[in-house]
Amino acid sequence: MTEIAGGCLCGAIRYEINGEPFRIANCHCDDCRKATGSAYATILFFKEEQIKILQGTPKKFEHLADSKNTMIKEFCSNCGSQVFGSGAMFPGVRDVTVGSIDDASFVKPEVNLYTAHALSCSHIDDEIDNFPGMPPS
Ligand SMILES: [Zn+2]
Ligand SMILES: [Zn+2]
Repeated sequence: MTEIAGGCLCGAIRYEINGEPFRIANCHCDDCRKATGSAYATILFFKEEQIKILQGTPKKFEHLADSKNTMIKEFCSNCGSQVFGSGAMFPGVRDVTVGSIDDASFVKPEVNLYTAHALSCSHIDDEIDNFPGMPPS
């Protein structure tokens, strides 16, 4: 059984995750870029109950995605690191930003999302599944 430990840059937020993510994605959408301050976001998807917050309370920011769904970004109000995210269309699911994980050496993205919005400096791996937007459901 895997135990994943992580937290924000300043250490005010610490969490522990039990078990494996059910999906690992690189998201190249504009919202992820803004929220993380990076070229794209690598995010790991878990069932909510797998994640246990040990310390701190993430601040929540709600916004509307281009799909018109409400999305929530959760970040440290002290250092600004985004640690979690979720979306109204996926109840019971919480995603975790790869940068918040202490040892993310196990992470292998399986899919690229919103490749139509990817920066020209971002390398897209042709060996995995790629979608110009969200995958068709
Ligand atoms: Zn912090
Ligand atoms: Zn995104």
